Amino acid sequence: MDELEGGIKRITLPLPTRPGHVHTYLLPGDDGWTLVDTGVGLPDAKETWAAALEEAGGSVATIFVTHFHPDHVGAAADLHELTGAPVYQGVLDYAQCELVWGNPAWSERLLDWFHLHGTPDDVTAELVGQSSVYRPFIRYQRDPILVEAGEHVDGWELVAAPGHADGQLCLLKDDVLIAADHLLGRITPTVGLWPASRPDPLGDYIAALDRTIELAPKIALPGHGDLIDDPAARARQLQEHHRLRLEETVTALGPEPRTGYDLSFDLFGAKLQPAGRRFAVAETLSHAERLVHEGAALRHEDGGTVTYTAA
Ligand SMILES: [Zn+2]
Repeated sequence: MDELEGGIKRITLPLPTRPGHVHTYLLPGDDGWTLVDTGVGLPDAKETWAAALEEAGGSVATIFVTHFHPDHVGAAADLHELTGAPVYQGVLDYAQCELVWGNPAWSERLLDWFHLHGTPDDVTAELVGQSSVYRPFIRYQRDPILVEAGEHVDGWELVAAPGHADGQLCLLKDDVLIAADHLLGRITPTVGLWPASRPDPLGDYIAALDRTIELAPKIALPGHGDLIDDPAARARQLQEHHRLRLEETVTALGPEPRTGYDLSFDLFGAKLQPAGRRFAVAETLSHAERLVHEGAALRHEDGGTVTYTAA
């Protein structure tokens, strides 16, 4: 447990996959802690949390989930049982949480979607199999209190941070941004196009980074990695990263139709494990779709396959 400025405590939990850890935060409030994010619902999550909260002292008044990815939402139900505190989650984010984790047919949908984007059969099975690894360890809280950007939770303003997840919400107070996976220090947050996601996640993300630059918080507390002491500068770096990636994508496109799977080899190389390839395809597609929205690429759907060409 780390003590941060403003009485905030950071509890870092291990993750079985990269980046190997996730940060959760205890924000001080009049009625007790607001606990932001929960880690994965590993079998010993409750014991781990009981020990951490005992060390922190005081009681948890509110549990807040920034987005529905396993490392952030996974132990929400365990924490609710342990503390009795209500769980708050964004409206759109909870809808996607149910669609993905509350839906036994989701794997099937993901299979179809990777096929649609040109992934060979044998590879598709591998990619989707990999994505089920976390499924048993996700115990999200049913029927949480639904909130939206602009509302306040325990004095913290909720700020929309779409891109990494469509419905991700950050918290802002006194120039401190609890950033979740919107801004990360050394890693670039993945921004992918997934089935049932918003149509232009990269466009959403670039606009959300503009908002971060405008808000100009003094510090950002991310879901992974070091504290970010110049969030606006980091937001500009991430915009620049995607500008270059968009250029690479334009360069890879020509008159010959190419699928997202195929293009992902140009953008992310050939040497990727199935989990890496899964994100590479989704991320390539978010760039291709951004180009379609900018008028720099064309999307075609033909015989059950989506392809892109230069405009
Ligand atoms: Zn994360």
